[in-house]
Amino acid sequence: MKRLAVCAAATVSAIALAAGPTAAAPSPGKHGEAARHHAPAKPASESARLARSILNTKGITYASAHVGGTDKASLPKQNLVDVSHGRLARTSPWGHEKGARVALDTRMLNGVLKLGTQYHYRFEISEFVGGEHSRGSKHYAGRAVDVTWINGRHVGRKADHRGFMNACRKLGATLVLGPGDKGHSTHVHCQW
Ligand SMILES: [Zn+2]
Repeated sequence: MKRLAVCAAATVSAIALAAGPTAAAPSPGKHGEAARHHAPAKPASESARLARSILNTKGITYASAHVGGTDKASLPKQNLVDVSHGRLARTSPWGHEKGARVALDTRMLNGVLKLGTQYHYRFEISEFVGGEHSRGSKHYAGRAVDVTWINGRHVGRKADHRGFMNACRKLGATLVLGPGDKGHSTHVHCQW
């Protein structure tokens, strides 16, 4: 029996940490010394770099709608676009963390990237931080990804979910759920 491990506390601290640099909107004073070497603050952070790489990886695709409602700002591709630009990813306006902004964890992003570039899976991501998940879910902490299609087959309908789940584990995922686990008959959940 597997159980969803939840940790609500991590969510809050992740938001607080991540809000720091992004919240500091630069006031573009022309005479500021800070402007000498730096274009208006856009740190090429590791998460931004990884998000950009994922977006550039052929074979990784994204759901264009949520299961529970319509909100474009929290779709998985938009989550990556935001993070690639140094912004935070947005949750959906429903669910347990409505309207929050969260960082995407670099371990998770690295795993997602390597599923494509190293393991050569073609897969569709249905959610990062958007949609609705169980209370305290690591999705809301930017540490989990849901995948619905693997190599052209839907999870639960002859997709090779076992191989994909093993790849997640080899890439360091600490919780991997899929068909056979409660609530995961049609998607794979990989969490770092
Ligand atoms: Zn999930």
